[in-house]
Amino acid sequence: MIHLPAIGRRFRSGIVCGLLGLWSAVAASAGSELIITNARVFDGRNAQLHENAEIVIAGGKIVAIRKAGSGLPEAGSTAAGADASRDAKAGSASAAGSAPRVIDAGNRIVIPGLIDAHVHPAMAIQIGALRDSDPNYVAARSVVEAQHILMRGFTTIRDMGGPVFGLKQAIDEDLLPGPRIFPSGAIISQTSGHGDFRPRSGTARRWSGEVDLGERLGYGLIADGSDEVATAVREQLRVGASQIKLAAGGGISSMYDPIDSVQYFEEELRAAVRAAADWGTYVAVHAYTPAAIRRSVEAGVRSIEHAHLIDDATMKLIAERGAFLSPQAYLFSRAMPPPAGGGATAAAGSSSPAAGPALTPSQAAQRDKAMLVGAGLDRMMQLAKKHGVKIAFGTDVFGSPRAFGLESLEFGVRLRWFTSLEILRQATSINGELLALSGPRNPYAGGKLGVLEPGAWADLLVVDGNPLEDIRVLEQPDRSLRLIVKNGQVVANRLD
Ligand SMILES: [Zn+2]
Repeated sequence: MIHLPAIGRRFRSGIVCGLLGLWSAVAASAGSELIITNARVFDGRNAQLHENAEIVIAGGKIVAIRKAGSGLPEAGSTAAGADASRDAKAGSASAAGSAPRVIDAGNRIVIPGLIDAHVHPAMAIQIGALRDSDPNYVAARSVVEAQHILMRGFTTIRDMGGPVFGLKQAIDEDLLPGPRIFPSGAIISQTSGHGDFRPRSGTARRWSGEVDLGERLGYGLIADGSDEVATAVREQLRVGASQIKLAAGGGISSMYDPIDSVQYFEEELRAAVRAAADWGTYVAVHAYTPAAIRRSVEAGVRSIEHAHLIDDATMKLIAERGAFLSPQAYLFSRAMPPPAGGGATAAAGSSSPAAGPALTPSQAAQRDKAMLVGAGLDRMMQLAKKHGVKIAFGTDVFGSPRAFGLESLEFGVRLRWFTSLEILRQATSINGELLALSGPRNPYAGGKLGVLEPGAWADLLVVDGNPLEDIRVLEQPDRSLRLIVKNGQVVANRLD
């Protein structure tokens, strides 16, 4: 988890608000068959599109991707269905078991639903404000952010810390619109570590018996020593964590741990990895420095979050072990010069920190940490490319509507290092591989995510423009996303 105080950028409310009104009666179309016609399909991996294709969907999954006309139902139902698809009432007709619902993609590109591998919807307000907030109010804000995340095209997220289990349950039960969630539960941290959210006046549970609010609510869990770490891991698994999140080094939003601090002894990290492995899943760690990353990878950690201060030898180790790198670029892009060529990225990056309100001393300290970490961004990405590391797509947005509203801007910033196609793969098939590390703890194990192929979950987007050639079309989802389908159900339909 990272935090940039006083981000002086306009909350792009237009990105999300325009689509929210399009939320349609999802439950009404459950179980119905859907056919997307006239599609150019990007399968999540190959640059070669499936041209003039039809995607056949049943039971929430893709049944077939086939050439047009190779197996459509009788003509007539197709045309009628295409017309009816613009009508919210069409779903109930399909659900009754009559003709399949047919939606004409208009020869647009269809891509897998996007995946954000690092986000915190349960941290819907600033951490410092959590203590003075009604947890139900925070939960309500989380519900809103979950809707926004989905409407930006992220049909799946990996939650990297926070009490997100109830939100996940409500979404999975179709009570609310939102993405599929791979929950980590509380961030497990040593005393004084990045997941220790106690205020300065807080006392230690071991000496005072007082359990801090952050622990009670499930944001962070303080555990010291191998036994406690294993117990903390098992506590998260008990309530449904699909992977485990540990803090292995200093952080920005945490107040009392220097960035250079190494957190957890190797035996403690190994205890976490073993406890997770006994349940068939893996550990992800928050870490910036070579020392913290090396210790984690050698202990068996499979996903390194952030890593901005990494060196060459440690990146090589990540590559050799086949671990994933889960970096964030946009939040640190202010520490870099504006890119050549301009665009949305340059406009966002041009705002001056001096334009915002005066910072408190703690905010200033966080800013200094962020600038230190941000200075490593370019080198980290260069090293990752050099060693061919598997790079996830994650944004680490949390804390305010404005911060969540920046989620889609991660796409364009990555053009400094990667092609549009590479970035699109990161946000789809590569993230899908990362999620699959949860093995039997994968909450959606019945199908693949991040790809469009028979047997995969039917999570897909119909896009205006070509994200394989210019990924920045995804930075304006209210304009570019013409159709959002999750679990075979139409979430938003702007085709006309
Ligand atoms: Zn995070």
